[in-house]
Amino acid sequence: MSKVAFLGLGAMGARMAANLVRAGHAVTVWNRSPAATADLTALGATAASSPRAAAAGADFVITMVADDAASRAVWLDDRTGALGGLGKDAVAIECSTVSPAWATQLAAVVTATGAGFLEAPVVGSLPQAQDGKLIILGGGGRDAFDRAQPVLAPLAAAIHHVGPVGRGAVMKLAVNGLLGIQLAAWAEMMGFLGRAGFDGAAALDVLTTLPVASPAAAGYARLMQAGDFAVRFPVDLMAKDFRYATQAADALKSDTPVADATLSVLERAREAGHGAENVSALIRLYTGR
Ligand code: NAP
Repeated sequence: MSKVAFLGLGAMGARMAANLVRAGHAVTVWNRSPAATADLTALGATAASSPRAAAAGADFVITMVADDAASRAVWLDDRTGALGGLGKDAVAIECSTVSPAWATQLAAVVTATGAGFLEAPVVGSLPQAQDGKLIILGGGGRDAFDRAQPVLAPLAAAIHHVGPVGRGAVMKLAVNGLLGIQLAAWAEMMGFLGRAGFDGAAALDVLTTLPVASPAAAGYARLMQAGDFAVRFPVDLMAKDFRYATQAADALKSDTPVADATLSVLERAREAGHGAENVSALIRLYTGR
């Protein structure tokens, strides 16, 4: 069993860290808001006072935070950053959904110390994080990927190596692109059906049986119809992913008119005050509910 530092105990990170404790690893946890460590220490984890303190002596340092800025702060803060505690025999694993540019920059800084680096963004939401059934999109060298297996296995139903650092982020942003585009379309069409006089639940009973309904979209459509906006994956995080995806695509001169339109819908939802709500709240743009 390994010594693992787990940094970032939000909705996803707390569930992932708990699975590492249950798998028998010696887990040290840190979160910006310290109250989040209580559930983990009750399970048997140790709380650290900073990312640097958590990383000291760890075989693996895993981060699961909101975005590029959070990742930068957790890894590179001059006084408290995890990099300052990272041993050269350790492997740093970035599980947050970050931009490919930041994943690449972070990898360069980490590997310059002699430590290993893997980006490991995850597909799946809270139930999959809870059950250790995430799909991991590993980006990095084979060596880091192979070494990380013992700490990724308790988190995941499948662990893919998708290429060098940066590729994991690109594929993760493409996955969320495919999801977000569908959800924006479903919200819009459900609004249209409602205006045309359809009973929403009855309409979904038909629509969700059709080949055009992916399982993920059908699930979110049901949440939209039920007015269930309890946060699992908020509009703010989906908007962040679309910003990163469109910026990365721009840098590659890859045209993204549909993602651009979806981002503008997500931004409208944020401006309307729905940023912290589940992404199912996109329906509120059309129903006013
Ligand atoms: P969350 O519940 O909002 O948690 C965000 C975490 O980031 C918290 O621990 C928060 O600390 C920390 N954080 C934010 N800004 C920070 C900063 N400047 N410095 C240090 N820590 C900071 O989000 P989540 O749902 O767990 O998502 C985490 C990551 O996984 C995101 O990149 C997200 O896109 C990705 N993801 C989410 C899902 C999902 O379904 N939710 C699925 C796949 C991937 P505090 O507690 O102090 O605020």
